[in-house]
Amino acid sequence: NFERVAARFPFHDALIEAAPVPGADARRWSYTKMNDDVDRLARALLALGVAKGDRVGIWSPNCAEWTLLQYATAKAGAILVNVNPAYRSHELEFVVRQNGMRMLVTAPSDTNSDYVGMARKALAECPDLRELVFLPAPAEAGFDAGVPQSDAELTYAELLRRADDVGHAGLQARMAELDPHDPINLQYTSGTTGFPKGATLTHHNILNNGFSIGELLGYTEHDRVVIPVPFYHCFGMVIGNLNALSHGAATIIPGRGFSPAAALEAVQDFGGTSLYGVPTMFIAELALPDFASYDLSTLRTGVMAGSLCPIEVMNRVMSEMNMVDVAICYGMTETSPVSTMTRQGDSLQQRTETVGRTMPHLESRIIDPGSGEVLERGRIGELCTRGYAVMEGYWDQPDKTAEAIDADGWMHTGDLARMDGDGYVIIEGRIKDMVIRGGENIYPREIEEFLFAHPSIQDVQVIGVPDARYGEELMACIILKPGAQPLDAGSLAEYCRGKLAHYKIPRYVEVRERFPMTVSGKVRKVEMRQEAVARLG
Ligand code: ATP
Ligand code: MG
Repeated sequence: NFERVAARFPFHDALIEAAPVPGADARRWSYTKMNDDVDRLARALLALGVAKGDRVGIWSPNCAEWTLLQYATAKAGAILVNVNPAYRSHELEFVVRQNGMRMLVTAPSDTNSDYVGMARKALAECPDLRELVFLPAPAEAGFDAGVPQSDAELTYAELLRRADDVGHAGLQARMAELDPHDPINLQYTSGTTGFPKGATLTHHNILNNGFSIGELLGYTEHDRVVIPVPFYHCFGMVIGNLNALSHGAATIIPGRGFSPAAALEAVQDFGGTSLYGVPTMFIAELALPDFASYDLSTLRTGVMAGSLCPIEVMNRVMSEMNMVDVAICYGMTETSPVSTMTRQGDSLQQRTETVGRTMPHLESRIIDPGSGEVLERGRIGELCTRGYAVMEGYWDQPDKTAEAIDADGWMHTGDLARMDGDGYVIIEGRIKDMVIRGGENIYPREIEEFLFAHPSIQDVQVIGVPDARYGEELMACIILKPGAQPLDAGSLAEYCRGKLAHYKIPRYVEVRERFPMTVSGKVRKVEMRQEAVARLG
């Protein structure tokens, strides 16, 4: 597949990494050069003895080598394990042990993160881990790629030199052994509702999903896709890399971490036609004091995912950023990830209130989570997904896999949703967050949205806490705006009266400084509930 793209568009830009400092040169790969470099890397993996199905981890912020390794592991038949760059020793070692990782490619240490030191500790403590590879340090000061201290440690340059030991015939022989249904990628879920689980994904799962997203965005070899979202997440590596690659488009990396200015500069400097982000990234870009000075005239589309986008933000993204066809995607790690998506020409309302409709070649349905009965349009229940994008299973967790994927192949998402008459899906929150008070189902998101409009409230999360009389009662956890009047349960109830049904009015109010978050920026309600229960006694 990959080679076909290189054969059709040999001199098109495939990959551009913006210069880390102004004035320096960007790093560029044409499709021909990328194909050559990926082959070299894949042969190097074979030379080190990486077998089909071996787990090779990458633990690094975005950089060109991340993408090259993604394609090289696919060609070598290894399983790429995405390790969140925000992880520290404890989480790294959990992931390395959980899948018996044999090789870890890691970023140079910087002032925030001693990747090299933590990787060495994992090498010493996890018996399956055999090799560490240190990625080159950027030219700026403050990075340390580490000097190899033993035979188990290699620099990236040394790894590439090993490719001399395996010829093209060796790589061709390996590729002949590969099947589209072989696992290629192990991605851990965000851990919003519990411990992260490793979703095992095949070539067939993720390449088809990436391709399908690009079809709906109308990508061609003339597109230039700016990706400021992390590659370790499926948003970066599938919706980003595989989608662009499968259409012969160029992938543009604005920098290692997210900077709103770097993202807009990359669009301007490299003629970006598509820009990605979660809603908060677009908010930060629009809020730049010199926002109006960027030339964004080449943009036409992009992807927003992860959470709902406020309507004013969507309006500005479409008009002031020129992204008239920006798409909203919904999905989960377990479904490669995208299962529903808005389409070109959808209304502003469809792009802000819904997550679009089901992707081609996938099926969606809404069931009663208790009885399993399929619900008619408009009723709220659990969203289920079936089709090619559903993962093979959770790595080494057959019980969890059986809970998630039923005998008919439906993936139970754990999300509550309803479908409108046109098949557009409206997400109502997670099942684990639903509150049942006196037999009444309550969806916290509805109450959160209502309370957002309160003049003193900056952020709010509504949770259920045990109650002897009603089974559960509602608690509103509130972050106040700076300088706002304090709120208590009485004054909040006063505000809600006449506007919300009596049973939806929170019985308890707790003012907090912050909410517990996962590294991917989701609120951990499960933890909030445990803390609240402990406090209430
Ligand atoms: P874990 O499964 O470990 O508890 P997680 O479900 O947060 O964590 P991910 O696979 O990264 O891990 O996230 C998928 C979830 O993100 C979905 O189940 C859904 O709740 C939420 N989500 C994804 N896209 C959207 C969207 N466009 N709008 C609203 N919510 C979304
Ligand atoms: Mg999940």
